[in-house]
Amino acid sequence: MNASYHSTRSAEHPVSAKEAILQGLAPDGGLYVSDAVLERPLDLDALGLEPRSAVSYLDHARQVLAPLIPDFSADEVDAAVRGAYEGTFADPEIVPLTPFGDDWRLELFHGPTCAFKDLALQMLPRLMSRSLAAVAPGKRVLILTATSGDTGKAALAGFADVPSTAIVVLYPAGKVSDVQRLQMVTQPGANVAVAAVRGTFDDAQTAAKRVFSDRSVEGRLAEAGVLLSSANSINVGRLVPQVVYYVDAWCRLVRAGKVARDEAVDFFVPTGNFGDILAGYLAKRLGLPVGRLTICSNANDVLVDFLATGTYDRRREFKKSISPSMDILVSSNLERLLYYESEGDVELVASLMADLAEKGAYTVPERVMNGIRETFDAGRADDDDTRLAIAGAWSDLGLAIDPHTAVGARVMGQSEPQGRQRVLLSTASPYKFPADVLRALGTEPPADGFAAMDALADLTETAPPASLAALRSAPVRFDETIDPLDAGAYVEACARELLA
Ligand SMILES: *Cc1c(COP(=O)(O)O)cnc(C)c1O
Repeated sequence: MNASYHSTRSAEHPVSAKEAILQGLAPDGGLYVSDAVLERPLDLDALGLEPRSAVSYLDHARQVLAPLIPDFSADEVDAAVRGAYEGTFADPEIVPLTPFGDDWRLELFHGPTCAFKDLALQMLPRLMSRSLAAVAPGKRVLILTATSGDTGKAALAGFADVPSTAIVVLYPAGKVSDVQRLQMVTQPGANVAVAAVRGTFDDAQTAAKRVFSDRSVEGRLAEAGVLLSSANSINVGRLVPQVVYYVDAWCRLVRAGKVARDEAVDFFVPTGNFGDILAGYLAKRLGLPVGRLTICSNANDVLVDFLATGTYDRRREFKKSISPSMDILVSSNLERLLYYESEGDVELVASLMADLAEKGAYTVPERVMNGIRETFDAGRADDDDTRLAIAGAWSDLGLAIDPHTAVGARVMGQSEPQGRQRVLLSTASPYKFPADVLRALGTEPPADGFAAMDALADLTETAPPASLAALRSAPVRFDETIDPLDAGAYVEACARELLA
C-alpha cells in the first residue's frame, strides 16, 4: 500500500490515494495532501511541445495523474481517463484554448453540464469505484449531495451508471431555476435519484448533514454493505483532474509558438472554494512554468482581503451575486495552500483551523504570507463590474461570457500586464445563465428559461449547447418532494432500490 497522503493537520496516519478518495475528509477534519507534489515530478519533455505533437488532453491527464495518485496502476488511470473524457465532451479538444483580445481563455464548459465542475466530476466517480474495489472489496458507495443548482447536476452526470456506486441529490423545492431543475430531474441512469426538499438550500444542506451524522442510518447501510460518501470539492479525486488543464493550456501555448519552453504563463481564476486555483498552484509545484495566479472574487471577497491583510475573516455578510457558484465565505481548499506554503507545518494549520472554527477568523504568520504573495494576486468584481465585463466582452470581442467568467475578465482587465501570456479560466457556458447575460447586454430577459436561451441565441447568433437544448423534450424521471426530516428514510430507500 502506497501511503502517499496525510491530513493537513497531522502527518500521522498516512493513507493511500485510494483511501483518501474514499474518505473525502481526514478523520481529524483536515484535508488530504501529498508531499509528492513538491518533488517536481512533471517531465516537460514528455508533454509534446512540438508544433504538431499528437500528445492529447487524455495523455496529459495520464501524465499528471500518475504521480498524484501513485497507488493507481497505469491501467486504472487509463480506464478512468478514458471513461471521463472519451465521448463525454462536446469539443474534441476537451478544453480548448481560444484568443480573448490580447489574452487567452480556457474554455472549461464543454462537458455534459456546461460548467467546469464536469472536468472533475466526470473523473471522481471512476476513481472512487476503483478505490472501493481496492480498499473495501464487495462494498458499494452511496453519494449524497445537497445542491443549490450546479454541483448536483455535474455529480449526477458523473456518477450515472458507474459500477458499485449510486447517487442521491437533494435540492431546495422551488429555489433552483427551471433549467437547473430539469437538468437534474431528467438525469438518466439506473443508479441515480433526485428529490426536492421543502425549504431553502440551507434546509436541504442541513438535511444531508443530518443523514451523514446519523449513526443508525450509517449502521443499517453498513449492514447492507453500503458506505455513505459525498462528492465534495475537497476530495482528492476532484482536485487532481483539475491540474490537467493548466498543463494542457501551457503546452498549447508552447506548441503555438506563443511561449518558450521555460516561459511562465499567468492565470486568472474565478474563485469560490479555492479548488480550481489551487489546482494551478499544484501544477506549478509539479514543475509547470506558472507565473502568477490571480484570485478573482465576486462581492464575497474574503480571499481578496486575506491576501492583503494576512487575516482570513469569515465574520461578514454573505452576499447573493449573479455568479452564485462563487458565493462562498469559507474557501475550504485554502487549507491545502497553507500546508504547502508553511512547508508542511501541520501544527500551524491545525491551530489556524481551530481559530476559524472558534472565532471565525485566523491570522497567518508574515513569512507564510510572503510566500503566498510570491505566487498569488487577487482582485474583486461586484455585480455591476461583472455586468460591465459581460457587455465589454460582447462589444469589444463579440463573445458572450457567463457571469463567473466575467468576474475573471473584469479582474484581468483591471490588472497591469506583466509581460507574460495571460489565460482566463472560463468556467461556465453563458447559456447556463442566459437571463443575467441578457440583462448585462441591455435586454430584458423573458421569464421562461428556455425562452431566455432562445433570446440569447438570437442576439449572439450562436447555438445553445446540445445538452441544454435537449432538456426541452427530455422525460422527467423524478418528481418527489420530501420533508427535510424524511431525508434519512429517503436515502435508505434509495440505497435499497439503486444498489440492490
Ligand atoms: C464552482 C465554480 C467556480 C468556483 O470554483 P472553485 O473551485 O470553488 O473556486 C467558478 N465558476 C463556476 C461556474 C463554478 O461552478
